[in-house]
Amino acid sequence: MLRSRYSEQNVNIGNETFTRNKTEIYFCDNPDINKIMYAMCHELTHMCIEDYETGHGAEFERIFTFILKRAAALNVYKTITFPFVYCGVNVHSP
Ligand SMILES: [Zn+2]
Repeated sequence: MLRSRYSEQNVNIGNETFTRNKTEIYFCDNPDINKIMYAMCHELTHMCIEDYETGHGAEFERIFTFILKRAAALNVYKTITFPFVYCGVNVHSP
């Protein structure tokens, strides 16, 4: 699913982090690469879910946990301690 939607041309820098139409990801400009990787995993999870109405439900949590573990195993992400601030947003839990 993700492979068909994801393209490196669809990753952009903006003022906030979000996914548009499950095909484009925007990141706020942040100097902490690990927080950006966390946000990338979060937005990739949104791209993986078919249902636009799902939001952050059980399916999201299952896929997000899987992606975070894979990112950590690949050493592109280090587990973050909650809460933390990312681009002005308080993140309290995955
Ligand atoms: Zn989200």
